[in-house]
Parts: sequence; structure tokens; C-alpha cells
Amino acid sequence: MENFSLDFKNTKLFKNLQNQILNGNLSHATLISSPDEMSLSCFTNLLANMLMCNKVCGECENCIKIKSNTHPDVLRYPKGKTFLVSDALDIVENAFKKPILSDIKVFIINGVDQSVAGQNKILKILEEPPKNVFFILSTTNTKTVLDTIMSRVQSYSLAPFNQEELSQILSFHNIEASKNVIAFSEGYLGKAVLLSQNLKFDEIFDFVKNIFTQLKSSKDIVSYSKQLADKENFQLELELLFFLYRQALYFINNQKTTYIDIDFASLNLNNKMISQILKHLCEAEKALYANVNLNLICDNLLLHILEEKYLWK
Ligand SMILES: [Zn+2]
Repeated sequence: MENFSLDFKNTKLFKNLQNQILNGNLSHATLISSPDEMSLSCFTNLLANMLMCNKVCGECENCIKIKSNTHPDVLRYPKGKTFLVSDALDIVENAFKKPILSDIKVFIINGVDQSVAGQNKILKILEEPPKNVFFILSTTNTKTVLDTIMSRVQSYSLAPFNQEELSQILSFHNIEASKNVIAFSEGYLGKAVLLSQNLKFDEIFDFVKNIFTQLKSSKDIVSYSKQLADKENFQLELELLFFLYRQALYFINNQKTTYIDIDFASLNLNNKMISQILKHLCEAEKALYANVNLNLICDNLLLHILEEKYLWK
């Protein structure tokens, strides 16, 4: 996969941590959080690179070896798909081995929250780390990281890009992304890259947008429900409905237009109505995980949306 690490060089968070590295006061254990896994893996990689080469020059042995994932002193975890106890044990063992190429060692631990036992195993080493060892941890949700880990790390959240930055990055990498993709990605690079590969995305977006703007009578339910009950795309359709209603809430409460081409003002939505609809969306999501018949989920969901629209108008 293409490397997007350098795209994070101008972020506020990177500049902050860069200063700390240059001043020699970066904590030995840093935790980065973002809901976007790809952003995390790019950012933690960039930070490791900065620790090894202050200029992130891209040309020295450190930079080249980091780029090709062969730097002996930058160790990335998890080794497999998720962080496991075996990774933690490996980290503890390796942390005491001297660096080979550089004078420091960097451990990148992505998705550290994925294993409670694994987190417990690295507690001690985070508390009393060997000299010249840096730990860069990441998580998609700090709430799932143990308090005992949180108290031993400096924690930062990586903000999403704004829409303009995101568009620029994508076009720099020659990735074509529609306006809808940019809007729905909400500044998260990994999400945008993934969606830009989904050739059906714009079609699905338009369909869901139709439900959002046009659903008016029980007659509509029949035709919409049939199309909505698409096994392959229902999860995405549901996420899009969540997204549009959240955008509507934002519009109502901030009187600002969003990046989507929808005339929210003309839809006569209100807070109470939307919060009820969001509840029904949550229920539909639960039903989906519980393997309830998809046609039934869709019928119910659309019926409930329609009901709330009448009830609270
Ligand atoms: Zn370099």
C-alpha cells in the first residue's frame, strides 16, 4: 500500500511532538488516538522516523530502512492482525536488547487496547523503561485502554484533516475521490482511501440521500425498503443514514451549512425528531448484528423514520 506517513508532517500534533523530540523531552511512552486505523499507522511510523532522523530526510540509511520496514531498531507490533500477549512478551524481551543501527530503539504498538492481558504484560516496562527506548502506542479508542497504561503514557489525540487538506492529499497521491467521499470521510484519510476504491459509493450515497430527503409516505417505504435491504451494502447505507442525520443536527444547532449538497432548512427537521430517528438507527444496527431478517429491519426502520417525521413535525 502507498505510504501516507509524510502527509502527517504538517499536522499540529506532529509539529508539537517534533518540538518535543528536538528539545529532547519527548516522553518515553506516547499514546496516539484516532478512530482511523490507517492514520494511526502512518502517524506512528512518521514519529518513529522522526526519532531516528530528525529531518525525516527520506534519504539516509535510517529513513530508507524505516520506509522499507527493515530498520532493526524500529519494531512494529502487532506482528499479526491484532495485539496479543505474545506481542507483549516479544516487546519486553526485545526492549532490553541493544539497538543495532541507531543509539535508540523505537517500539510501535498499534491497537494496544486489543488485549487486556497484553497491556498488563507491558505495564512494567512502560513504568521502568530501559534507557534510550521509546514506545509509541496507538488506539482507536482511549476508553478501552487500561487506566494503568494511561497513567504511564503521554496521550494525544490526532485530529482529522479538514476537507480541503484531505482533498489535497488524495489528489497528491492521484486518488480520485468524489465530493461525497470527501464529506463522508469526515477528514479521516484511511476512510477516504477505502471509500474511493468503492465504485458503487456515489450510487449508494445518492440512494441514501433520497431516503433522507424524499421519504414521505408509506408508499415510499415499499420501494425504498427493497433496495435498502442489500446484504452487501446495508452496513454502509446505515452509516450514511447516521451521517446525514448527524449532519442535520449540526445544521440545526449551528445554522451552518455542511459540505453536503442538501438543503437541510427545507426538510423541517428538529432536534427531537432526529434524536428519535438516531435511536431507531441504533436499533437497526443492533438487529443487524443479531441476524434479524434484513427485509424486516429495513421495513421497520423506514416505518419508524416516517412515524417520527409525522410525530415531531
Ligand atoms: Zn533521514
